[in-house]
Amino acid sequence: MNERPKEQTLAEQAPANHECRLCGYVYEPSKGDGKGNIAPGTLFEALPSDWRCPVCGARPAQFTNIGATNAPSGFQENLNYGFGVNNLTPGQKNLLIFGGLGLFFLFFLSLYGLN
Ligand SMILES: [Zn+2]
Repeated sequence: MNERPKEQTLAEQAPANHECRLCGYVYEPSKGDGKGNIAPGTLFEALPSDWRCPVCGARPAQFTNIGATNAPSGFQENLNYGFGVNNLTPGQKNLLIFGGLGLFFLFFLSLYGLN
């Protein structure tokens, strides 16, 4: 193995997806290929040479490296979906709570002042 530039290190942590140039099927190493008995976590480079595109039967040579999907970021997006408040920092939560209390207090005072 030759020494690789540092930028390659990140790419290695998140294995690259490969897209079939014939049909657009994307092989994702994290998912593997259930049809082809490929276990999740199998790198594209580690696929058996007789592996074929599960959609159109193309050889691995017909696939293009399309780079890694940023898995942690995608996961983060799912977390954010519908749970916005849970992703606030404690400081932001305090601001929200005490800001809300302060507003309520001011509102209460203004009502009280009207009487
Ligand atoms: Zn294909």
